[in-house]
Amino acid sequence: MSYDDQNIFAKILRGEIPCKKIYEDNFVLSFYDINPQKKIHALVIPKGKYVDLDDFTLKASPEEMVGLFKGINIVAKKLGISSEVGKGYRAIANISDHGGQEVPHLHFHLFGGESVGKLVG
Ligand code: AMP
Repeated sequence: MSYDDQNIFAKILRGEIPCKKIYEDNFVLSFYDINPQKKIHALVIPKGKYVDLDDFTLKASPEEMVGLFKGINIVAKKLGISSEVGKGYRAIANISDHGGQEVPHLHFHLFGGESVGKLVG
């Protein structure tokens, strides 16, 4: 799938649509999900134009890859949900059709602020 510049996260990145920003650096933007599924539900997206995790893995530079994963850790610390403070959270990325992805710009969901339970079972 080619990248759609009109997807909602592309518009947020361009500042055309507002978001409740948590963190931003050269590689990532993080903001609260508009429809939270847990006490804390944050999204972390790369600034580059990547449709999903497969696209990112194939095309992103090593710096962008490090930047994304460091970004997730920074956001978790900022939100007070990181394992370093004894909490923890779930990080998931839905990928394409069978993965249930709705917005075609790679994003990680961070669920926390409470026990999020088992994913399966
Ligand atoms: P996914 O199903 O993995 O593509 O998740 C897309 C997520 O984006 C959903 O959890 C939506 O609630 C969230 N979302 C959609 N539009 C916005 C928006 N304008 N600001 C923040 N989150 C959004």
